[in-house]
Amino acid sequence: MPDAFPAARPMKPPMPVWTLTVTEARDVTPHMRRVSFALENAQGFEHQPGQDLVLIMTGDDGQPGRRHYTVRAVDREAGSLDIDFVLHGHGGPAERWALSAKPGDTLKARGPRGRTIIYPGADWRLFVGDETCLPGIFAMIESLPATAKAFAFLEVADKADQQPLNAICDVELEWLVRGGPAEPGSRRLIDRLALFAPRPGRGHAYVIGETSTVRTQRQSLIARGFDKSQISAEGYWRRGRQGGHDHIFDEAEMAARMGTRG
Ligand SMILES: Cc1cc2nc3c(=O)[nH]c(=O)nc-3n(C[C@H](O)[C@H](O)[C@H](O)COP(=O)(O)OP(=O)(O)OC[C@H]3O[C@@H](n4cnc5c(N)ncnc54)[C@H](O)[C@@H]3O)c2cc1C
Repeated sequence: MPDAFPAARPMKPPMPVWTLTVTEARDVTPHMRRVSFALENAQGFEHQPGQDLVLIMTGDDGQPGRRHYTVRAVDREAGSLDIDFVLHGHGGPAERWALSAKPGDTLKARGPRGRTIIYPGADWRLFVGDETCLPGIFAMIESLPATAKAFAFLEVADKADQQPLNAICDVELEWLVRGGPAEPGSRRLIDRLALFAPRPGRGHAYVIGETSTVRTQRQSLIARGFDKSQISAEGYWRRGRQGGHDHIFDEAEMAARMGTRG
């Protein structure tokens, strides 16, 4: 069994730690590098599509830092796991690591973690995000049964960054091509979401990606009548932030949470 790290915060159960050994690294599109790993003790690896691992990366200061990366695919029988790294061009430790990864290199990872997963009981689901969300959105859509209905708006840098989706559900996937690097506050994603007409029945919306884009999208969904329980929102990256992730709350929720902490 894998070792266990102490919990990062009180009350949270410890996350298992895994050793990942690179077996292959290749570009799947111009801005996406897939690293395949051998996974030790794979039988004990429990995860839900959409969840991520916290990879321990050495930063510029030589200290270990945390970077979240979604499990794109896992094969517990074969003991293999794929992670797709966006080549965002800012030269962060994770991007640099992916660019130089070669068979035999190892990484420590904690998890899987995260609540960006498929929740039962929705009549349809909407997924919105940029290329950092592609691995999670594809993994979630590919896990849906044939009877499920899904919509997805995915922003990528170039047309060549579009990938084939192997889904069996009824899915309408729309690519939004930027034609350049990712910027905070994506008008393309925000405006496309604003034009989306919710279908009858109960929907669930996943808005993930750059933090300010996600915040605007969540507010716009709430203004259009979505209940907060129908929205999964998480900030995957933010300009100037190194690693980590952002919870997306509005000011009232934040005040309430601070209040309950006493
Ligand atoms: C739950 C979760 C799942 C994620 N899954 C994936 C995944 O499967 N694949 C993936 O590629 N990323 C994923 N991300 C995003 C990834 O963790 C961040 O992009 C991370 O900051 C990259 O680390 P880095 O060391 O390359 O750059 P950092 O050292 O973290 O950042 C260096 C600089 O680059 C900028 N930057 C970082 N990422 C981007 C970006 N995507 N676009 C533009 N500028 C950026 C930062 O703002 C900073 O200024 C996920 C994030 C979360 C929270």
